[in-house]
Amino acid sequence: MSKRNIVLFGPPGAGKGTQSAFLVKRYGLVHLSTGDLLRAEIQAETPLGLQAQEVMSSGELVPDEVVVGMIKNRIDASPEAQGFIFDGFPRTLAQAEALDNMLQKIGKPISVMLSLEVEEQELVKRLLNRGATSGRTDDRSEEVVRKRIAEYRAKTEPLKSYYEGQGKLRKIDGVGTIEDITRRLTKAIDG
Ligand code: ADP
Repeated sequence: MSKRNIVLFGPPGAGKGTQSAFLVKRYGLVHLSTGDLLRAEIQAETPLGLQAQEVMSSGELVPDEVVVGMIKNRIDASPEAQGFIFDGFPRTLAQAEALDNMLQKIGKPISVMLSLEVEEQELVKRLLNRGATSGRTDDRSEEVVRKRIAEYRAKTEPLKSYYEGQGKLRKIDGVGTIEDITRRLTKAIDG
């Protein structure tokens, strides 16, 4: 099977984490989630984690150098990977360009950007619901949730044009059952 590098894209609450788990199993990919990596740093109380915690709890983006550095370490640590699934990264144009540079050096460019499309009202509902049932403090306040969505619209959503320009954007309806959405994603990957 050919090597695949997938950017799983979409606003906070679109279901990237949930769907990543299925795609990792099906395609044997290495899952790289900057949100998970940052939360692990916070958990371990590293200097990076302490710095990131404040930014994350306000709903803003952590600095590009921080997340780019984390991703680079992970790519370097997995030379045997069949491919990667990037979840929550890139989130800015600078991150997308840095990622393209890194992958170009190892000859494994992004194959596709799968963009989960979900409208704002549904996102807020899902995130606040997750906040009520999970330990994620950034999901508990409607103000922080709305800030994260606003950050997405301003800084992250423009990346769709970046990948569209490379002919790699595939829009996927992100509303439906988990299985429906997995089916749509695998169709877009296989097709
Ligand atoms: P969600 O997509 O539900 O917001 P994530 O776990 O992907 O959840 O991200 C949580 C927070 O971590 C973000 O609000 C942001 O502060 C920070 N973060 C994660 N990935 C990045 C990134 N690539 N660039 C900047 N900040 C990031």
